[in-house]
Amino acid sequence: MIKAVGFDVDGTLYPNYQMFLCSLPSLLSAPRLMYYFGQVRKDMRQIEYDEPLHEKQAQLLSNKLGISEEHARDRMERHLYHRWEHSFRCISPFRQVRETLLALKRNGIILGALSDFPIKNKLKFLNLDDLFDFSLSSEDTGYLKPNPIPFQQMIREFGTDPDEILYVGNSYKYDVLGAAAAGMRTAWLKPLFATQGSGSHTQADIIFSSFSELRSRILNEFVQSSSTQK
Ligand SMILES: [Mg+2]
Repeated sequence: MIKAVGFDVDGTLYPNYQMFLCSLPSLLSAPRLMYYFGQVRKDMRQIEYDEPLHEKQAQLLSNKLGISEEHARDRMERHLYHRWEHSFRCISPFRQVRETLLALKRNGIILGALSDFPIKNKLKFLNLDDLFDFSLSSEDTGYLKPNPIPFQQMIREFGTDPDEILYVGNSYKYDVLGAAAAGMRTAWLKPLFATQGSGSHTQADIIFSSFSELRSRILNEFVQSSSTQK
């Protein structure tokens, strides 16, 4: 039995190619910045640090770009946190996302979203913000997935035991392994050419390729006793 479902956002509620297309204007206007920011985010997931997340990002970015920390921070905030987020107006969700969230809510499931980026506007652009009971940016915790801290914050928000939560994401490494390590059940939207996480050694409780499939599997396998309620 599960009482709550948590969702990753990018690549899970909408296709990654849309993020790429929406990001193109930002990519083209500041290609080096976008490239090195991507590298910095990868590094941030693997290192330990005590500084606030944005400060550490600015520090690593300034080293890669050979500019001052202050300049790096200013460019990051302007290009990545304001303009880039703004460009996500053009995204739209995968088919059946809204119907799936509604069906879960009708069955008394609490819904939460956890993204590595500021999240509120994105859910609004996806026209899904009315369906989530809460949304969290793991940036607010100071750490990115798969660090356990953002997942633990999500568990606290749900107010349930971790094994009563199903966490849904598209990254095996960050979402499935991160949520499983925090004690949650997991559903993996498996990318077409995934190299990790397939086969009998997978840690995902559900592997799915469409939201209608996810919906029926959750309702049949995890919410059985209440699925007859309307
Ligand atoms: Mg994702």
